[in-house]
Amino acid sequence: MSALYKNYQRADLSFERGEGVRLFSSDGGEYLDFAAGIAVNALGHADPYVVRALKEQAEKLWHVSNIFSIPEAEKLAQRLVDSSFADMVFFTNSGAEAIECAIKTARRYFYDQGQPDRYEIITFTGAFHGRTLGTIAAGGNEAYLTGFGPKAGGFPQVPAGDLDAVKAAINDKTAAILLEPIQGESGINVFSTDFLRALRTLCDEHGILLILDEIQCGYGRTGKMFAYEWAGIEPDVMALAKGIGGGFPLGACLATEKVGASMVPGTHGSTYGGNPMACAVGNAVLDRISEDGFLDHVEEMGKYLSWSLQQLAQKFPNEVLEVRGKGLMAGIKVNQPAGELVAKLRDQHLLVAGAGDNVIRFLPPLIVEKQDIDEAINRMEKAFSA
Ligand SMILES: *Cc1c(COP(=O)(O)O)cnc(C)c1O
Repeated sequence: MSALYKNYQRADLSFERGEGVRLFSSDGGEYLDFAAGIAVNALGHADPYVVRALKEQAEKLWHVSNIFSIPEAEKLAQRLVDSSFADMVFFTNSGAEAIECAIKTARRYFYDQGQPDRYEIITFTGAFHGRTLGTIAAGGNEAYLTGFGPKAGGFPQVPAGDLDAVKAAINDKTAAILLEPIQGESGINVFSTDFLRALRTLCDEHGILLILDEIQCGYGRTGKMFAYEWAGIEPDVMALAKGIGGGFPLGACLATEKVGASMVPGTHGSTYGGNPMACAVGNAVLDRISEDGFLDHVEEMGKYLSWSLQQLAQKFPNEVLEVRGKGLMAGIKVNQPAGELVAKLRDQHLLVAGAGDNVIRFLPPLIVEKQDIDEAINRMEKAFSA
């Protein structure tokens, strides 16, 4: 009997080590990992460069708390600022915490402007922003809210992609609009670049903030550093996590100076957030992702994955109903519950992630190669033919 909470439906499978896009199970099996810890292992498993950075930092200093200056955090923050719209950064240990900080930053900004009643954040159906009390309210998924007391207020939700509904929802309480440019958990739903641009325009017209949750779709996954770049827009606040630590717990909330300056001493904090260990790893991950041609590789592999999945859909039209996604954040809608197909693929030693709407997610490490994708498609064909 496991002493762990029963809140996860775990597969009866555990791993001993990993290397690149491969995982090796305790019983000696070799698996192709197209789940990557749910878009976390951006560089695959045991990337030698990141491992070295972690070991070097581990022998020097792990944690000092935010009572002190942390050079590794200063460095990583400056690099994130240099590669994004942002002017300042708050480090967290997880995605949900990064969203919490984004919510607090937006609300505090309007409070500082003498508009404390402007605290509402408009969200979209299908959203997922984490599992804290604040982020389940923002996500609005009833299944995640049920049984946990009153839903935190201030998160009106409108149908995904419905611009008129957004317009209708904006009032003198509205502080911001929050969305994932590509929804992950609900089934790889890509918001169009037109829609993202229209939201930016709406925010500017109404003096409200655009908050992006790029926890899953950001950090190179779509072939650009951040997914918002495809739309040629910039948010005011953005949450990052998952790929940013490559497997080490790390998240970040990025903001413009104008908005982030409201978070003065005492307004927020985290014991671990941005500690030397996490930021040393974060810097090493960013070194790798910033290498010449890295993002081009992601884009190329993304196109190849998408093409391969289209071929698969043509070969198995009854099984694969739709191909979705951008870059290495791809999904197929299938004709069976996602969980069942995930298990069948696991039997073929291919690891993928389920999502809502009967969608299977492919979130391979960004270092994936064509032959890995071929192999994954091969294993899918086997599963469909079985
Ligand atoms: C994973 C995820 C989160 C939550 O991140 P945690 O690290 O699990 O708290 C929030 N938003 C999106 C889009 C995610 O994919």
